[in-house]
Amino acid sequence: MSNRPLYVAQPYLPPLKELLPHLEAIWESRVLTNGGSYHQRFEQALAEQTGCPHIALCTNGTLALVLALQSLRITGEVITTPYSFVATSHALHWNGIKPVFVDIDPTTLNIDPYKIEAAITPQTTAILALHCYGQPADTAAIQKIADIYNLTVIYDAAHAFGVEDAGGSILRHGDMSITSFHATKVFTTFEGGAIVCPDAKAKQRINYLKNFGFADETTVIAPGINGKMNEFSAALGIVQLEHFDSVIARRREIDTAYRAALDGIRGIRCLTFDTSEKRNYSYFPILVSGEYPTARDELYARLKKSGIHSRRYFYPLISNFPTYRSLPSSQPSNLPIANRASDQVLCLPIHAEVTIADVEEIASLIANPQRASTC
Ligand SMILES: *Cc1c(COP(=O)(O)O)cnc(C)c1O
Repeated sequence: MSNRPLYVAQPYLPPLKELLPHLEAIWESRVLTNGGSYHQRFEQALAEQTGCPHIALCTNGTLALVLALQSLRITGEVITTPYSFVATSHALHWNGIKPVFVDIDPTTLNIDPYKIEAAITPQTTAILALHCYGQPADTAAIQKIADIYNLTVIYDAAHAFGVEDAGGSILRHGDMSITSFHATKVFTTFEGGAIVCPDAKAKQRINYLKNFGFADETTVIAPGINGKMNEFSAALGIVQLEHFDSVIARRREIDTAYRAALDGIRGIRCLTFDTSEKRNYSYFPILVSGEYPTARDELYARLKKSGIHSRRYFYPLISNFPTYRSLPSSQPSNLPIANRASDQVLCLPIHAEVTIADVEEIASLIANPQRASTC
């Protein structure tokens, strides 16, 4: 293996020459943002790619979540997963909503739908679930509960761009779903995100809200915010879409190689994914159990010493951050499986620059803890 450091995520970028004609067009037009032609074209291309016709671009995934909650007028309490990136709960907090944490399923690490019902109170208005590492949440079970209790369902699909189940894009589920095009995600526009709306009216409301609430030049119909995607990011997105299939294919090879190389190492479990679904291979999480010779954090440090920058993602658990830990639902006794996963998880590098030789070297480092201090 070369001595270059390997990071857990590395953005795929298309050949610059493919982007240049678009940049020249932007320079020429002087239209840099505010719903310019690239914004419109990228929305159209995404609608075709996902089969979700009412998709609205956004500055980033976090604002997309904040806007989705605003536009659906969610208040009170929202049931959510503690096992996510902190933005999931922060978006609730920024809307003055109280997160109510529910434990996760030990196999998928997604919110456990069978524990949702017990967390519902008269203040509950919605369920905010995550498709963790791009693995679809149990959308059928979640919808069933939502229908019984008249709750809104929102999906944080920040990990799930490109994922499909039997019915098509995973983004179509729920009352709204959001995704992220951040530099660390499987598909990037530098910063960026999108909101999948159920109909044209819902998208119109998002469009108002992401542009300060302007309905026309002089009419402000609501206290909106600035959530618009700029033309540069939209142009990059259009070019990126052409490469997406090959990016996924490459990630798939790495995923397969990891599974073969890590197979049979005591105390190491690779997360399994539903094979009937079209995956995006956005992460490669392993769980380091008590049967492994060293603690997870020791393995993390040892890999780092060898230039392998894995990531404890998600650690700490959202419910253990100062903002949230005093909530009644944050008690570790309420969230044993999420706390355990957070203590065991390690995401390994997966992106276009990881070679099969890298994968074998990483697996060998994991399989041979004694190789530690010799590096
Ligand atoms: C990345 C991420 C976000 C936030 O997206 P940004 O585009 O970085 O704002 C939200 N939720 C999850 C689960 C994420 O991984």
